[in-house]
Amino acid sequence: MYNNSKSLFERAQQSIPGGVNSPVRAFKSVGGTPVFMKKAKGAYMFDEDGNRYIDYIASWGPMILGHAHPAVVKAIQEKAADSTSFGAPTELEIEMAELIRSMAPNVDLVRMVSSGTEACMSALRLARGYTGRNKFIKFEGCYHGHADSFLVKAGSGLATFNIQTVPGVTGGVSNDTLTCAYNDLQAVEQLTEEHPDQIAAIIVEPVAGNMGCILPAPGFLEGLRSICDKKGIVLIFDEVMTGFRLAAGGAQQKLNVDADLVTYGKVIGGGMPVGAFGGKRAIMEKIAPLGSVYQAGTLSGNPIAMIAGYTLLTELKNNPGIYTELEQKTAYLHTGLQQVLEAAGKPFVINRFGSMISVHFSDHAVTDFTTAATADIELFKKYFHAMLKRGIYLPPSAFESWFLNNALTTEDLDVTIKATKESLEEIL
Ligand SMILES: *Cc1c(COP(=O)(O)O)cnc(C)c1O
Repeated sequence: MYNNSKSLFERAQQSIPGGVNSPVRAFKSVGGTPVFMKKAKGAYMFDEDGNRYIDYIASWGPMILGHAHPAVVKAIQEKAADSTSFGAPTELEIEMAELIRSMAPNVDLVRMVSSGTEACMSALRLARGYTGRNKFIKFEGCYHGHADSFLVKAGSGLATFNIQTVPGVTGGVSNDTLTCAYNDLQAVEQLTEEHPDQIAAIIVEPVAGNMGCILPAPGFLEGLRSICDKKGIVLIFDEVMTGFRLAAGGAQQKLNVDADLVTYGKVIGGGMPVGAFGGKRAIMEKIAPLGSVYQAGTLSGNPIAMIAGYTLLTELKNNPGIYTELEQKTAYLHTGLQQVLEAAGKPFVINRFGSMISVHFSDHAVTDFTTAATADIELFKKYFHAMLKRGIYLPPSAFESWFLNNALTTEDLDVTIKATKESLEEIL
C-alpha cells in the first residue's frame, strides 16, 4: 500500500536531513513512514502509490479553496511567461498591497516577504525598533516561525519532538523572550509589571493552531489590547494561520479586536512561499527605506508568488459566502465526530473555530499548552494511522489544528465521520 513512499523515504534520507524539508512531515510524532505526495486536486491528495486521501491539512492552510484551484493555476502559468523575477518593483505588488488593505483591518502599510517566519521575525524587529525596548511576550505553545527569538516554548513542531530548549539559540536571545500560558491574562499583567518599560511587543496567535486548535477565552485578546495601550507595548497578531481563513479580515475582523501589527502567511500566498507584515502607519514607517529598521528580501514580492496570492485572495474577497460554507462544513464535521466519539466512550474534547478544528483525547478542557500536552497523545497516534489507512489525511501530530478546505463535500465529511467510527472500533 505504501511501497513507493517507503522506498522514496529511504532514498530521501540519503540526501535530506531526516528525509524531509520541514520536520513535522517526517511522521516522527505518529510513527511510521511519511506518505510522499504526487498530486492533488480539490479536496483530494494522491500519493506515489496511487492512494487517495481526503485532505485535512490543506498544505497547513493555504489550500483553503482546495488544491490546484483553476484560477490560481492559470494565473501562475500565464505570469511565468513574463519572467519569474525582476528584483525591481512591479505594479502587481501595488495591487497585492491594495487588495490586502481592502480586506484586512488596521493595515495602513504592508511589506511582502517570503514566509510566515520572516513576517514574524521582521514584525518583532520593527516593534523593538519602534519602542526602543528589547523584551517581548509570547505564549507557550504558540508558534511564530523558526527565528531564534521565537524558539522558546514554541508549540507543535517542537512539542512533537519534545524539544524544550533549542541548541543554537543563545541565552542572550532567549533571555529577551518572556513566556506565559495562553489565555492567562493575569500572568501577562504580572510580566509587564516585573519588566516596566522593557517590553516591546506581545505576539499572539489570536486563535491558536499550533497546539491543536485553542480558542481565546472571552476577554483574553481584549485584555491584551488594553495592557498594550496602557504600557505602550506593540500588539502583534500572528495571523499566519488565521489571516484570510477565519474571515476576509482574519481574526481581527472575526473577533473584533485591533492589533498594531499583523503578520500573514499561508493563505496569503495561495500555495506559494509568501508572508507579509503590516499595520499602523506610524509603526510601519520605521521600516527601511522610510525608516532605519532594516528589512529586505531578494525575492520579496516575487511575481509568481504575488499572482498566486492575489488570485486566491480575490476569490475570497469576491465570494464572502465561502466563509459561511467553510464554517458550516466544519460545524457539520464537529457534530458528526462528536457523535461517534461519544459512542466510543473515550474522553475527548473537540475545539473548533471557523474552519479550524481539532480532536484532543482529553478528559479536561484544552485551553493552553499544558492542557493540550496532557491529552492522550498515544491514542491520537493510533487514530491518525487508522484514519490514514482509510484515506483520511489528518495532521501527523496531536499538536496541529486541522484545516478545512471549501472543496470538501458533505459526502467527504460523512466518509470522514464514518472512518472515525471504524477507526475507534479498531483501536479501542
Ligand atoms: C506556519 C506559521 C508560522 C510560520 O510560517 P512559515 O511560512 O512556516 O515560516 C508562523 N506563525 C504561525 C501562527 C504559523 O502557523
